[in-house]
Amino acid sequence: MLLTLFAQHQPASDLGYLYHKHPQKVQEFDLRKGKATVFYPHQSETEISLCLLVEADPVGLVRSNSNDTFALRQYVNDRPYVASSLMSSALSQVLRNAMNGSCKDRPDLVDHPFELRAELSALPAPGPSLIHELFEPLGYTVETASVPLDSNWPEWGDAKYFRVVISGKCRVQDLLTHLYVLIPVLDNDKHYFVSDGEVEKLLEKGGEWLKKHPKMELITRRYLRHRKSLTNAALERLTEGNGWEEEEEKTHQLEDALEEKLTLHQVRLNQVMEKIRETGAKSVLDLGCGEGKLLRLLLKEKGIEKILGMDVSYRSLEMAKRKLYWENMSPRQKERIDLIHGALTYRDRRLEGFDAAALVEVIEHLDPPRLEALEKVVFQHARPGNVVITTVNQEYNVLFESLAPGKFRHGDHRFEWTRAQFEDWAEKVAGNHKYKVSFFPVGPVHEQHGAPSQMAFFEMLD
Ligand code: SAH
Repeated sequence: MLLTLFAQHQPASDLGYLYHKHPQKVQEFDLRKGKATVFYPHQSETEISLCLLVEADPVGLVRSNSNDTFALRQYVNDRPYVASSLMSSALSQVLRNAMNGSCKDRPDLVDHPFELRAELSALPAPGPSLIHELFEPLGYTVETASVPLDSNWPEWGDAKYFRVVISGKCRVQDLLTHLYVLIPVLDNDKHYFVSDGEVEKLLEKGGEWLKKHPKMELITRRYLRHRKSLTNAALERLTEGNGWEEEEEKTHQLEDALEEKLTLHQVRLNQVMEKIRETGAKSVLDLGCGEGKLLRLLLKEKGIEKILGMDVSYRSLEMAKRKLYWENMSPRQKERIDLIHGALTYRDRRLEGFDAAALVEVIEHLDPPRLEALEKVVFQHARPGNVVITTVNQEYNVLFESLAPGKFRHGDHRFEWTRAQFEDWAEKVAGNHKYKVSFFPVGPVHEQHGAPSQMAFFEMLD
């Protein structure tokens, strides 16, 4: 099985320092269940590629899987040919320093974002969509190509293997840790017994990025081979600090003095809360509530008696419940809040009769032709007194160094609007439904490009 890492950089030889492997040498390493070879097939002034070839001992690999009752599988299996947990082990052994972000000779390179591309010749996966869903939220562009089961017998269809190319501008350390975690997640297998130590490995390598990944639960579950107790332990730690009390404490601290350290999303949520507070709303809809960050703030607001969170993603609602400690919520709190599964593109009577509604970073997740349906659902049928809508400001994207030109900030965004585009849309919506609308920047304002995010505040006119 073969993994090739391409990098564009001048001088390309810098990458040799980061990988800790001499570009002129072919080096071999013993793995416990196979052998790894590292070499550079290509190097120019501006481009360099490194190949990691992993040769598995197929019999040894399958024998260690003692549950396998199909004897022939020990001799006939895909393990030597596909990227699997053995590839991850090879990465962490052979490119350990690069993965851990240490480079004694050139520490300046560790945090440098490079144009990187990883090619995997055969990656087992249940389908191409999961490959996209795992890598794209991390900022990569993903290409997948199916591999026929047997090119002599096209009628047999495709195999469950994909040739995969992921590319993006990021640190070498990030690319390697993403591959390390996500290859076995896609393969959904491990060549060794998964024990408690795996939780530590996942938290060490996944740590920060996994907490924010929309597929955090699925990644955790598959990485830990569906072992429930380990999965729960890992998820608990990944979501810790998001607890209700801790969050309250954190918000206090932040309110005290640390305003400038707030993340953009916290700034946005606080600004939305401020607007809702201004309206004096007693009942509030959080449409596209996601994992419930705004819901937590709404719950803290004593004057709000009724909160309804809705999302089209069942998984997000589950996550919201966990983060709100739903099971342990006091009956009084529980009376104030409901979470419902629903789509903003279908009329829903449950949304009627509320004072205010928030749609925080939601509209850009809908295909533009569906916005008309959303407009009707929210402004014609649900018709709350006030509506707050936020969305990213596309003009600001040029200021994000790690975002390639023309790319969206999130893999699931269907569009990103300039200030003029958002204002045009919102003015039209307000006009169509007898609201008036005003606009506010969200986050630090750049003279030319505006703020990173934007907010429209609608007030019903009768
Ligand atoms: N408002 C949340 C989440 C933003 S992400 C926050 O600010 O943290 C966008 C959310 O919109 C996702 O949870 C997604 O599942 C939801 N969403 C996308 N399309 C939707 C639709 N048609 N109906 C309801 N929710 C939708």
